[in-house]
Amino acid sequence: MFRSVSPIKNSPNFAARLLAWHQRHGRHDLPWQGTREAYRIWVAEIMLQQTQVAAVIPYYTRFLERFPDIATLAGAPQDEVLRLWSGLGYYSRARNLQRAAQLVAERHRGVFPRALEDIEALPGIGRSTAAAIAAFAYGTRAPILDGNVKRVLARHFAVAGFPGEKRVENRLWQLAEAQLPARAIGRYTQAMMDLGATLCTRAKPRCAECPLAQSCQALALGHVRDFPTTRPAKAVPTRATHMLLLVRGGEVLLEKRPPSGIWGGLWSLPELADATRAHAHCRSNYGCSIAAPQPLAPLAHGFTHFKLQIQPLLCQVEKLTPAAREPGQMWLSLEEAHGAAIPVPVRKLLGRLLVACEPEATPRTAPIAHANSASKPSSGSKRSLR
Ligand code: SF4
Repeated sequence: MFRSVSPIKNSPNFAARLLAWHQRHGRHDLPWQGTREAYRIWVAEIMLQQTQVAAVIPYYTRFLERFPDIATLAGAPQDEVLRLWSGLGYYSRARNLQRAAQLVAERHRGVFPRALEDIEALPGIGRSTAAAIAAFAYGTRAPILDGNVKRVLARHFAVAGFPGEKRVENRLWQLAEAQLPARAIGRYTQAMMDLGATLCTRAKPRCAECPLAQSCQALALGHVRDFPTTRPAKAVPTRATHMLLLVRGGEVLLEKRPPSGIWGGLWSLPELADATRAHAHCRSNYGCSIAAPQPLAPLAHGFTHFKLQIQPLLCQVEKLTPAAREPGQMWLSLEEAHGAAIPVPVRKLLGRLLVACEPEATPRTAPIAHANSASKPSSGSKRSLR
């Protein structure tokens, strides 16, 4: 519908207008601002990928209390890193963060690197994140291009096409580079982020308050909402699984997931594709015999590329062979399991069990909705594990 035809050029006073706006209306008191310590900035930038500021703040505070520097993070047990990340989603970010801390210790004697190519060589850090860290920590003059900035530039310069396409992304990088001011790069970077997060939002852009309105091409065209072009629609497949809530004397069994892939390295509930195999599966894998599994209310969890339909099965353990316990399995009290490094839907299922076990609750009736009750499956957050 729209074609980008203008050559790459600097929009007059783009940066100056943005900086003046930011001075009065930008965000200045976020927990990761007011420092030039690369480690703190880096942790914030990784947490802020795919996650909103308000959700990040409590995680950021807890994470830095436990891991105040690169050396502490590098030497911590992965379980603890994942536990403090649990609920933020995209767990590969946490695994990469720790791996990168270990590489900084090995390659850079524990000092976060300054050169953009060294920063970008660390796991989990792409071009835009490297530029943001370097801008905030060292004042390095380099453009960023996160989702918010893509939206601002696509609208301001009426760049047609889905930003996930290489051709469109390259043009946005060129435009981002062309607008960079000679100085105040840290403030400018924050201003771009803030404009996209607070004024030039996806659903309700507040153009009347925008410092870029006088030169915004999408606004002049009267087509702000048409930029950026949305991702081409694609059907999202559904995968189904059974999760086993193996309970025994107030304890539940958790199993460690493989180090990579979905929920990599987290603790989770045992899974099973075929529910009719529950007895045999529990006997051979966990050394226990169980009563007839009781289906509970299902749960749906959304990932970027598929939807996971979870059918929980409550399995009361009748007999356990202690010698059959394997590494990568642990029995924990419900409270401990609920606080462990577990994925969001598993936490929801354990939360239901906890509520059901409260003294005033009627066990296994009201709080734990059974599969044959009228309750609808709840939706999980739209998060993906990259
Ligand atoms: S004028 Fe509107 S669409 Fe253009 S950059 Fe500002 S907020 Fe975004």
